[in-house]
Amino acid sequence: MSRILIVEDEQSIAELERDYLELSSFTVEIENDGLVGLDRAINEDFDMYILDLMLPNVDGFEILRQIREKKNTPILMVSAKKDDIDKIRGLGLGADDYITKPFSPSELVARVKAHIARYERLVNSNIIENDVIEIRGIRIDKTARRVYVNGEEKVLTTKEFDLLTFLASNPNHVYTKEELFREIWDMESIGDIATVTVHIKKIREKIELDTSKPQYIETIWGVGYRFKV
Ligand code: CA
Repeated sequence: MSRILIVEDEQSIAELERDYLELSSFTVEIENDGLVGLDRAINEDFDMYILDLMLPNVDGFEILRQIREKKNTPILMVSAKKDDIDKIRGLGLGADDYITKPFSPSELVARVKAHIARYERLVNSNIIENDVIEIRGIRIDKTARRVYVNGEEKVLTTKEFDLLTFLASNPNHVYTKEELFREIWDMESIGDIATVTVHIKKIREKIELDTSKPQYIETIWGVGYRFKV
């Protein structure tokens, strides 16, 4: 549930805003004093701030400025004077939206919903999970390009990583050295299929407990290699 802080010294306006927002299932806190509002805005987590401009002790400009130094949370500025709104825009303090009194409460709710939804999408888009392959103690993080065997990180070269990841992404599929060379090295590369053999050996030294009895990359004699599942 989204939590909103309203800093507004006119109690009747604050309550009107709160009542409408609560009808839309938001949790709303009200502060009437600028200094207390600023303190809570900075030290507590909210999903949105609605700030009046003219407030006792600390005004809305200053609260806006200080929140923006620390947080990207959406901020809606409220003022009785259109000139003041123009002033905040002009100062470029980073408010997301502006509304002049008197306003329609449903317009306020619509704007709050839109800003919270936009901000949630933004936050969620930054926490996409890494693309990971996990097979019997080996963990290949394709996004971070890191390999772990039983929790211990193994450092692979770029080509070693690409080769291992390709085989592990297609488990139980037997590839010839020619196919692997074409897949991992581009046609212009200097080298030949012996390069594949050399890289498989290096990978095994890094990921296998006993290279004479490979658990992960299996040699299919006369054909090529496959990643065993
Ligand atoms: Ca005021």
